[in-house]
Amino acid sequence: MPEELTVEGLPAAALARRFGTPLFVYSRAAILDRLTRLRRAFARPGTAICYALKANPNQAVCRVLCATGAGAEVVSGGELARALAAGFAPRSIVFSGVGKTEAEMDLGLRRGILTFNVESCEELLALERAARRRRRPAPFSVRLNPDVRARTHPHVTTGRAENKFGVEAPQALEMARRGRRSRWLDFQGLHCHIGSQIHDLGPFARAAAAVAEVLRRLQAEGIAFSLVDMGGGLGVSCGAEPELDCARLAQALEREFSPWPQARLLVEPGRYLVAGAGLLLARVLYRKETSRRRFVIVDAAMNDLARPSLYGAFHPIAPARPRKGPRRRVDVVGPVCESGDFLARQRLLPPLQPGDIVAVGMAGAYGFSMSSQYNSRPRAAEVLVEGGKARLTRRRETVDDIVLPEL
Ligand SMILES: *Cc1c(COP(=O)(O)O)cnc(C)c1O
Repeated sequence: MPEELTVEGLPAAALARRFGTPLFVYSRAAILDRLTRLRRAFARPGTAICYALKANPNQAVCRVLCATGAGAEVVSGGELARALAAGFAPRSIVFSGVGKTEAEMDLGLRRGILTFNVESCEELLALERAARRRRRPAPFSVRLNPDVRARTHPHVTTGRAENKFGVEAPQALEMARRGRRSRWLDFQGLHCHIGSQIHDLGPFARAAAAVAEVLRRLQAEGIAFSLVDMGGGLGVSCGAEPELDCARLAQALEREFSPWPQARLLVEPGRYLVAGAGLLLARVLYRKETSRRRFVIVDAAMNDLARPSLYGAFHPIAPARPRKGPRRRVDVVGPVCESGDFLARQRLLPPLQPGDIVAVGMAGAYGFSMSSQYNSRPRAAEVLVEGGKARLTRRRETVDDIVLPEL
C-alpha cells in the first residue's frame, strides 16, 4: 500500500488543509541534518559555513541556521538587512555581487561585516571611498574568475571568462596590491564561486587550483591573507544524477589549501542546505486530455516555482495520499497563461482527482525566493515544521498586497 506523505510526522495533506495551497513547507530537522553533514565533512579548523540567503531568505529558515552558529552570504543590501534581522553575527557575513551600491556598502561597513567580496577594480575604488567617508577601513576579498567550466545549466554557471562575475588573476593581484597601499582598505583574501547545482568534483578542484595559484603569487609578494572563500554551488540530487560528495569536496579543498593553515576556509552553500528540506504543496483543480497529452491542472504555478520553466529543472512530484490504480503519464501544470508553465512533464503518477494534494519535492531552495506575482497571483504561504509542530512563517499574500503599492 502506498504511503501517506509526511513532514516530521505531520501529514502533508493536513498541512495543506490547515494553511491552504499553494504552500511551501520546510523541515527544521532536514535543514540541520544537512548542516551537520557539511560540518562533519569540513574538518579543517576555522572553516565557516556561510549560508547563501538567496536560496531561501525566510527569517525562520535563517534562524534555524544562525542559531547553530552558521554564517551568511548575501548578495544585496536587502539580504544583508534580512541576515542581520535574523540574528547572523555581522562578523560571520560575507557580501558578494557585481553591483553593490554605495548605500549597500555603507550598511555593511556600519554593521562591521566579515568581508566584501569585491568583483571589479571600480567597485574596489567605490568601497575605498565609502570606507574613507566612514573613517573605517573596509575588509575585502577579491572574487577570482578562474575560467573553469562547470557542467551545469548555462544560466547558473558563473566561473567562466565570459560570465560577468569576478576578475581574472592579474587584476586580482592588482586589487590586492591596492589593498596593501590604501589605509582604507583591508585585504582579506580570495573568493570564488563557479556556479550552482554542480555535481562533480572536477570544476571545484580546478577552481581551487586557480585560487591556490594566486595565493602563491600573493605570498611571493609578501601580501598577507586570512580568508579563502570557495563559494557554494554544491549540487543536490533531484532524480538520476548522484549528489556531490561533500566529504570528497572538503578533502580536495583542504589538500589544495594545506600550505596556508592560517587562512580560514569559507564555503557558501545555499541549495545544499535547504533544497531537500522543502516541499511545495498544491491542490489538484482539474484534469483534461488532449489527443496527445493528459494534463493535471493544480493551483501552484511557475510564479510559485520557476525552476521547471526557467531551467527545465526536474522536481520529484507525488500525491500526498496516493490512490490505488494504474499509474499514468501526465503533465502537471499551473493556471498561468504560458505554455511554459509546468511543474512536471510526462511523469508517471498514480490516479489524481480534483481536491487531491500533490507535493513537489526539492522546493526548499530557489522556490519561494524566486517566486513572483506574475498573473497577479498572490505569493504562497510558508510554514516551518519543527519537532513535529507546524508554524506559519510567512502569511499568504492577498490581492491587496499586489495592488496597494500602485499609485
Ligand atoms: C548563489 C550563490 C551561492 C549559493 O549557491 P548554491 O548553488 O545555492 O549553493 C554562493 N555564493 C555566491 C557568491 C552565490 O552567488
